[in-house]
Amino acid sequence: MSNVGQSWGRYPQANQLIIPVTDRHAALPVSAGSMLPHGNGRSYGDSCLNDGGSLLHTRHLDRFMAFDPLSGILECEAGVLLSEILDLVVPQGWFLPVTPGTKFVTVGGAIGNDVHGKNHHKAGTFGRHVLEFELLRSDGSRRLCSPRENPEWFAATVGGLGLTGLICRAKIQLRRVAGPWMSCEICRFDDLPGFFSLSQASDRDYEYTVAWIDCASQGNALGRGIFTRANHAPAHPDFRPGAPSRCLRVPLTPPISLINPLSLGAFNSLYYHRQREGVRHVTTHYEPHFYPLDGVAEWNRIYGPRGFLQYQCVVPPAAALDCVESLVKTIAKSKQGSFLAVLKQFGDVASPGMLSFPRPGTTLALDFPHRGASTLSLLDRLDEIVASAGGAVYPAKDARMPARFFKQYFPAWETFSHYIDPKFSSSFWRRVTE
Ligand SMILES: Cc1cc2nc3c(=O)[nH]c(=O)nc-3n(C[C@H](O)[C@H](O)[C@H](O)COP(=O)(O)OP(=O)(O)OC[C@H]3O[C@@H](n4cnc5c(N)ncnc54)[C@H](O)[C@@H]3O)c2cc1C
Repeated sequence: MSNVGQSWGRYPQANQLIIPVTDRHAALPVSAGSMLPHGNGRSYGDSCLNDGGSLLHTRHLDRFMAFDPLSGILECEAGVLLSEILDLVVPQGWFLPVTPGTKFVTVGGAIGNDVHGKNHHKAGTFGRHVLEFELLRSDGSRRLCSPRENPEWFAATVGGLGLTGLICRAKIQLRRVAGPWMSCEICRFDDLPGFFSLSQASDRDYEYTVAWIDCASQGNALGRGIFTRANHAPAHPDFRPGAPSRCLRVPLTPPISLINPLSLGAFNSLYYHRQREGVRHVTTHYEPHFYPLDGVAEWNRIYGPRGFLQYQCVVPPAAALDCVESLVKTIAKSKQGSFLAVLKQFGDVASPGMLSFPRPGTTLALDFPHRGASTLSLLDRLDEIVASAGGAVYPAKDARMPARFFKQYFPAWETFSHYIDPKFSSSFWRRVTE
C-alpha cells in the first residue's frame, strides 16, 4: 500500500510504502528500497518518515507477554501503546517509569527516541528503565540487548531513531503507585529568574516538574509563566475515579492556522492571569496531568494545511538563563510562537543512548505554525543561539535542522553509524548526514 505520509507536525510529507509487521517471529520483509520501523507516528518532523522507501508498521505487534505484579516487570511487543500499558497496570498499583506528554506512543517509539518526561530530573529517560529488548536485523539475525548483554547494541538502539533494526519486544521495569491520582501544586512566576528559582526549590521534593511560558509577552513580563509540580498521591479512601473524560476532536483542517499573533497574545494573557497569585493545590487523575493534549483528538489540525514545526532544544546549565532569555526574546519579537511552550530543567541522570537527546540543562519546547520562509528563518536564528551555547535540538521534533548542527549536537553520530542496518534509513538521517 503506497501512502503519502506525514508525522504529527503534518510537515514534511513523504511518499512511502507501508508494510504491516504482524508476527514478531517472522523475518523482515524483502524490500527493494530502504526500510524504517514506524510506531504510532507521534514524532513531529521527519525522523519517523522514509520518503521513497518503506515503513514497517508495528502497531500490530500489540501483545503482552508477561506482567509480574510483585516486581513490576512487564514484557510486551514493541507496538503496544503506553496507554495500553497504563490501562493494564495502574489498577494493579504500577505506573510507567517515564512518560512523554502523550500516551499514544508505542514502546518501540519510546525506545527509538529515548523519550523523557516531567520526571527527568529524578528518573532520567525511558531507556534507563528498559531491562532488555530483542533486535531483529534485515539479515535475519536477532540480538538480545540489555545494559549487560550486547551493551553496545543497546546503547546504539536506545535513542537510535529506528535505524539499527526492528525492536520486536521489550522488558520494562515499572514504578509503584498507590493509585491513579496526582497531588499537584500550581503557581505563577513573573519572569525567567522566577522559573529557575522555582525549579531549584522544587526538584528535590517533587517527582514531576514542568512550566508553561507565555512566549508572546515582552519587556518586564518576558518569560512569565505557570509552574506545576506534582507527586503521585497516596491512597485515599475519599478519592473516587470519575467518569472517563470525554474526548473532543478537531473535526477538520481549517484553511488557515487558527494560531495567529492576535489569538495567541489574548489567549496567553488570559491563561496566565486566570492563575491567581500563590500556590494552588489540586488532586487530579493522572490523565489530565500527564496528557492534557490527548483529550482533543487530532489537535494538530488547528495549524491549518501547512502544518507546524516543533522546536525543542536543551541548553547547558551555565548558559541557561541568558540563553533561554535570548531564545524567548527572539520568539516574542517574531510574533510567531504558539500557546504550547514548555520549559523544564533536565537533571544529570545520564541518558543510556549514543544519540539520546536529554542532557543536563534547561529544555524549551515550542510549536510554530508553518508560515514558510519566515518560520524557517526564525528557527535558523534559534539554532545559532542554541549551538553557540553548546546546546542541542531534539531529532524527534525536528524537520529542518542543518547537518552541521546535528553533527555538533550529537558527536557520537559517526560511531553510531556503524550500527545502522544496511537496509534501514530515514528521511531525517539522509537529511542530517548526506
Ligand atoms: C503531544 C505530544 C507530546 C509529546 N511529548 C513528549 C515528551 O514530553 N517527551 C518526549 O521525549 N517526546 C515527546 N513527544 C514525542 C514522542 O514521544 C516521540 O516522538 C515518540 O518516539 C513517538 O513514538 P511513536 O510510537 O509514535 O513512534 P514513531 O514516531 O512512529 O517513531 C519514533 C522513532 O522510533 C522508531 N521506532 C518505532 N518503533 C520502532 C521499533 N519497533 N523498533 C525500532 N525503532 C522503532 C522509528 O523509526 C522512529 O525513529 C511528544 C509527542 C506528542 C505528539
